[in-house]
Amino acid sequence: MDTNKKIIEEKDTQDVLLKYLSQERKPEINEAPTTSININPNVKVSEADFVAIDAQMMPMRDFYPIGTMIMVRPLKTTEIQAYSLVTENIADVYDKLNNAFQSSVRVKYPNGEIKSYLDVKDGDRFYLAYKIRELTYSAAKVLTVKESCECGTETTIEYFTHNFNLLSIPEPLKEYYDSYKRCFVLPVGNTVYEIAPPSIGIQRDITNYIAALAKKNKDKKTTIDLSFVKTVPFLIKGNSISEKGIEAKIQEFKSMDRDDFNDLDNFITAIILGVDTIKGVCPSCDSEVHTSNLFPYGFKSLLTKPNPFTSNN
Ligand SMILES: [Zn+2]
Repeated sequence: MDTNKKIIEEKDTQDVLLKYLSQERKPEINEAPTTSININPNVKVSEADFVAIDAQMMPMRDFYPIGTMIMVRPLKTTEIQAYSLVTENIADVYDKLNNAFQSSVRVKYPNGEIKSYLDVKDGDRFYLAYKIRELTYSAAKVLTVKESCECGTETTIEYFTHNFNLLSIPEPLKEYYDSYKRCFVLPVGNTVYEIAPPSIGIQRDITNYIAALAKKNKDKKTTIDLSFVKTVPFLIKGNSISEKGIEAKIQEFKSMDRDDFNDLDNFITAIILGVDTIKGVCPSCDSEVHTSNLFPYGFKSLLTKPNPFTSNN
């Protein structure tokens, strides 16, 4: 899946998603109809099925309150089947992952409050999918790739989350990070902005907003200004926002001083976090061998079993 090789960290996938949604396009033949398989959110799941993962282990660890737990359970057969219909279309991937997360993920805050997957940071989406994969399948079903070590030995890299190297807050941004507020605090002009990677809920609402706008604009042949759409999610807290709320935010930023907006935009553009590489250890010389390909077999393989009938896995 060469087209996915470069899609490594969250911001990139969001860019691809935004571009995909905003461009006028003909339906592709291999684009499956969006079949919505509804998973009943009210289905009773026992606490015992869930495993608690400390949010401090996740790529967006710096932006959850200390003590937050991400509760995850293995997928049921029907949920795997629902996900297996996924196409390599990024909007569909987000949609199908959200469906899988709806039943298998909860967020437990240190005060005991339990929220849905919508509170998970969007940048943790793929890491979380790998966690669910680990819980759902036996270790023998882990995805692997082979990479050559510098010594020449072929090394197997296993896609267990404990082999994932995570990026840290980039050095120039560190002085703006507030470990108590769990966000960046950036003064621009006369305003102090609190900036953090958006939740899945915010990301979903904004994606839906753009998709609706793209549909509306199709006839008018107008394009959508995406600069604000990339910046605004980092300034919205919580797990949902209405259409009116989004428009008010966009309006707010459109009326900002141009230099101030550029400063804010530059800062947000520099927030690059997520999974850096996946590591393996060379069996001959013990050196670490890395790959940065987060989706070696495409998006479908994230939550499905490797196909024994295809040659590369
Ligand atoms: Zn080696």
